[in-house]
Amino acid sequence: MSRRKFLGCLTAALGATTGVRSIAHAASNKHFEGYPDSFGVLHDSTKCIGCRQCEKACNEVNELGSPEKPFDDLKVLDTRRRTDEAAYTVVNKFEPAQPGPKSSPVFAKIQCNHCQEPACASACFVKAFKKDKTGAVIYDESLCVGCRYCMVACPFNVPAYTYNDPITPKVTKCTMCHPRILEGKLPGCVEICPKEALVFGKRKDLIKLAWKRINEKPDNYIQHVYGEHEMGGTSWLYLSGVPFDQIGMREDLGVTPAPQLTSGALAAVPIVVGLWPVLLTGVYAIAQRKDKIAKEEKDAAVKEAIDQATDEMNKQLAQLKDKMTKEQQNAVANEVKKALEEAAKKAEAEAAAADGEGGSEDAPEAGKEDK
Ligand code: SF4
Ligand code: SF4
Repeated sequence: MSRRKFLGCLTAALGATTGVRSIAHAASNKHFEGYPDSFGVLHDSTKCIGCRQCEKACNEVNELGSPEKPFDDLKVLDTRRRTDEAAYTVVNKFEPAQPGPKSSPVFAKIQCNHCQEPACASACFVKAFKKDKTGAVIYDESLCVGCRYCMVACPFNVPAYTYNDPITPKVTKCTMCHPRILEGKLPGCVEICPKEALVFGKRKDLIKLAWKRINEKPDNYIQHVYGEHEMGGTSWLYLSGVPFDQIGMREDLGVTPAPQLTSGALAAVPIVVGLWPVLLTGVYAIAQRKDKIAKEEKDAAVKEAIDQATDEMNKQLAQLKDKMTKEQQNAVANEVKKALEEAAKKAEAEAAAADGEGGSEDAPEAGKEDK
């Protein structure tokens, strides 16, 4: 992108600033009511055995390929991992300082929590993220400009980026198996879990189930359903026998939904400090994407022109060849005809000559008889 073009975009961005500020302000006044019948998943860490079958199923469903170390290698659980472009979910092992009713270790599964009011969506100024009525937070790659502000905004450190894809880099994260849910199927991880540590259902029913488990076995669980209220609530919910901060989960998030926090910050923080880096990155990314699309369109047009010219040339060559073949055939036919005619003429002439010679010899004989 030329410097001039980039500066042109900056001017446009300057104009947009006022708009962003007012949108942010509007968002702070409206609380998202949510989808009451949306789905979710309850992960009961007291049942999880850290078998990594959910990781395997996730990679299969999402066609993410095989990891460097196979899924039956449980030594990887000893390393603290996070989600990335090749793993939309990971299970980590914890040895809590304060042992729960169940003996250590404790396994905690990480993936996108599909927040009720997603920080990623509120941070994304091109609206590439959307909370769907199924409960899934869906990402639309075609809208994404690659500014990666969603990655900064997510309080659970979930979205990853395909840095190694130079042509079409994108943000990646768990989709809650949205396409499978629409087909009436379970998310891949839930379907495969051998210990029923994962339960899929309506979020409101899962909250009731979680509290039922806590109330029936209060010694087995911390009195807290993680995700019921954190950041305004999440579609993924968690039960644990030990404090959540001992199994890698943040307990400092509060209950205020992300859009309210984001809009407050946008209104309070000077735009040059808070939003400009995002806008500039976004503007640059949009321009780059436009350049890329323009180049692709130009390449496609050139290819089409070459293809058309080649077709036309082939057609003309075929016609020429046809014409030449016909002309050659006509020429041969003419030559043959001419040769036949000449041969016939010659034969006639020879016959006539032969006839002439025969006539002059007979005449004197006749004269002799007359005498
Ligand atoms: S966990 Fe992060 S990526 Fe997932 S919906 Fe919430 S903010 Fe977005
Ligand atoms: S498949 Fe179930 S038991 Fe196995 S690691 Fe995943 S959540 Fe835990």
